[in-house]
Amino acid sequence: MYDIAIIGGGPAGLSAAVTAAVRNKKVAVFEANGFSPRLQLAAHIHNYLGFEDISGADMMHKFLAQVRSYPVAIIEQKVMALQPMGDKFMLGTSGDVYEAAAVIIATGMAPAGTLPGEKELLGQGVSYCATCDGMLYRGKKVVVISAVPHALEEVEFLAGLCSEVILVPLYKLEAVPQASNITVVKTVPQAITRGEQGMEVQSKDGTMRSDGVFIFRVSNPVDTLMPGLQLQEQSIGVDAAMATNIAGIFAAGDCTGQPWQISRATGQGQVAALGAVSYLASKK
Ligand SMILES: Cc1cc2nc3c(=O)[nH]c(=O)nc-3n(C[C@H](O)[C@H](O)[C@H](O)COP(=O)(O)OP(=O)(O)OC[C@H]3O[C@@H](n4cnc5c(N)ncnc54)[C@H](O)[C@@H]3O)c2cc1C
Repeated sequence: MYDIAIIGGGPAGLSAAVTAAVRNKKVAVFEANGFSPRLQLAAHIHNYLGFEDISGADMMHKFLAQVRSYPVAIIEQKVMALQPMGDKFMLGTSGDVYEAAAVIIATGMAPAGTLPGEKELLGQGVSYCATCDGMLYRGKKVVVISAVPHALEEVEFLAGLCSEVILVPLYKLEAVPQASNITVVKTVPQAITRGEQGMEVQSKDGTMRSDGVFIFRVSNPVDTLMPGLQLQEQSIGVDAAMATNIAGIFAAGDCTGQPWQISRATGQGQVAALGAVSYLASKK
């Protein structure tokens, strides 16, 4: 049980963690993909005050070192589900369940868009989590649409369970999958539907049929993390204190909209942490 759980260990989440820890809160940061894979792609950053020229990777290293100097729990797991449970929140990862009195969502930029049919079929043939749902497809055929190279591990895991895995990488595949029942198909998925014989992924090169479809991205669309969260276009709607429409849930950084910039993310992370601290005080 944490006072404040922060979902996402990029600049926004780590900034929130420092402020919440300084305010003596019991804090956990959940990070799914090695701490801002987006920022770590940046070779040079010139517009963050105090750093004239630093790489994104070095900047994240410094941010993380600062967080680690506080008693903050860093949990390297992806939060798959966030649900209210009485006056607290339950956070589900692929293996564990955690509780927190307040939550800050700092999951970064939402994907530009979901595939047509994806949201409607989520939990009914479409999944974002191999560990959670892989067993449902034991001995069956699945299609995996992956935008993240490190998800290859998940793909191999599915290959161990399923009769056949069709992998559609949306990036330049450098490592070849080991399992012989994985077929790589280079195409651009366009829509997901349910046909008479199961799931169908339409692409510009034809239709791929299977029993289930897994989609791996750095961040999932924010409204699939917590049903009922109010959006403003593709981003999480927040007020000036970074509070969302759900009491106790705050958001910060790129997931709240543009401009997608580090200084905005760290500033919002701090405001969200202070908002969460005030929220906890108001409940006493
Ligand atoms: C190539 C490139 C260059 C850039 N250069 C600059 C620049 O020069 N200056 C500048 O100001 N900005 C730059 N940016 C933008 C900057 O990287 C972002 O604005 C900043 O990283 C946003 O921080 P954030 O914490 O909101 O999101 P992110 O940095 O995206 O962090 C979000 C984190 O949440 C994690 N996450 C997502 N979902 C979950 C989940 N369900 N459970 C657990 N963890 C989760 C992700 O793995 C990620 O680590 C650049 C971006 C790119 C891609």
